[in-house]
Amino acid sequence: MIDTHAHLDLADFDHDRKDLFIKMREQGITGAIIPGINELQWQKQIAVATEFNCYFALGIHPWYIPTNLEKSLTLLEQKISKYQGNDYFVALGECGLDKLKPDFTMQLELLSGQLELANQFNLPVIMHGVKCHQELCSLLAKYPNSKGGVIHGFYGGPELAKRYIDLGYKLGIGGLLMNPNAKKLRKTIIEIDIKHFLIETDSPSMTPFNATEKRNTPLQIPNFITEIADLQKKTTVFILERLNENASQLFEL
Ligand SMILES: [Zn+2]
Repeated sequence: MIDTHAHLDLADFDHDRKDLFIKMREQGITGAIIPGINELQWQKQIAVATEFNCYFALGIHPWYIPTNLEKSLTLLEQKISKYQGNDYFVALGECGLDKLKPDFTMQLELLSGQLELANQFNLPVIMHGVKCHQELCSLLAKYPNSKGGVIHGFYGGPELAKRYIDLGYKLGIGGLLMNPNAKKLRKTIIEIDIKHFLIETDSPSMTPFNATEKRNTPLQIPNFITEIADLQKKTTVFILERLNENASQLFEL
């Protein structure tokens, strides 16, 4: 099994990254997809992915709006060209929209540019969407992507889930599902077919409410799988197999 969304390149992991990967592999977590966040981080991100045999995506996160959009999109295009065909390079992202962060107009422009690049290079997309579902759904409809993608860190109810599924996207399920108060999300997991989900942690963020360590890590993944199995009344083996299939299919792993 892999964690389909973990920022293992960030400095939070610099002091114990090797140990963490040893522990992950002891638990059967063979790796992760490390999403891109901005041009300053791509180099370290790819170095970490290479050292630890992880998959990676390239993109610009909406929290890191560049000062020169056009220049950054050109850099992204060049970087993607360079890694196109590399077995470990699997998607465009992380990109998206976040109403809780500034420069929403710039965010829209940056995302449009990245959705165009995804189509140009025939890549699935790793999407961050917070409090902007109307705008995000319209953009995804405007730039249909035959490879699809994932709405990572999904927190909505079944209605919203179906809108994204109809647009060709899967839903990234993470630590929020462990919170009994996350009623909408837990309803989604009960009602929606497992084939639409991916499993992820968003480490080091999104630490589950009941975790002992403040920093989130991929070691949480088995707990999430047990919780989904309980909610869907299936065995953990069944859930794990489906989730592996979904990730392999979307990212062509
Ligand atoms: Zn992320």
